[in-house]
Amino acid sequence: MLSDRLQQVSAHLPKGVHLLAVSKGHPITSIKSFLDLGQCDFGESRLQEALPKLIALQEFEQLRWHFIGKLQKNKIRRVVRSFAFIHSVDSFDLAQRVSRIAGEENKSPKVMIQVKFREDPTKGGFDPENLCKEWPNLAVLPHMRIVGLMTMSPISVESEERRTLFRECRQLANQLQLPECSMGMSSDWKEALQAGATWLRLGSSLFGQRPNHFNLNTDITKSS
Ligand SMILES: *Cc1c(COP(=O)(O)O)cnc(C)c1O
Repeated sequence: MLSDRLQQVSAHLPKGVHLLAVSKGHPITSIKSFLDLGQCDFGESRLQEALPKLIALQEFEQLRWHFIGKLQKNKIRRVVRSFAFIHSVDSFDLAQRVSRIAGEENKSPKVMIQVKFREDPTKGGFDPENLCKEWPNLAVLPHMRIVGLMTMSPISVESEERRTLFRECRQLANQLQLPECSMGMSSDWKEALQAGATWLRLGSSLFGQRPNHFNLNTDITKSS
């Protein structure tokens, strides 16, 4: 039952830690069930899949959409119009574009900067040192609010090492005086929580298994 799954996770969450229900691969009816249970934050990683859901669920004013996938340049405008949060800003160029387009659209999305703490060719993200170097330029971009960092662990990394990686993310966020850390998925949210996550992005542990073709790596793969 969806309500049991939601309950199981919610029971662990301290104040200030939010649950992002990752609805990619799952139908509108399931999202509605979670809305009925009081869950308001939903994450999608592909605009094409998200659009019909956004339209079908327009009437639910409490619903906040979070974009968590690789954001392509030609999708920025549509994402900025409808998504309250973008968790996957992974380069200075992308940040600049989001800022400019958000200004044109009269929006101000909350942004997490995606950081890569371990080598992983399947994922994008700032190298931590580079982020620190770019920070003065990023922090002043108008029409968006950088509220935190987002990270993912490579699949090959073991549980203990994930905790370490998540702690590095928390420390860097603290150093930059950013309150939010978007980290932890179904397989490692407990480690992320211990390390100081404030947004857990959970898909399968809430909704059940996704159909096979919704493979995580295809969402995050670097595109040129
Ligand atoms: C799919 C996805 C998730 C959720 O993954 P689960 O393992 O199903 O919890 C979290 N974050 C991102 C960026 C994703 O693409």
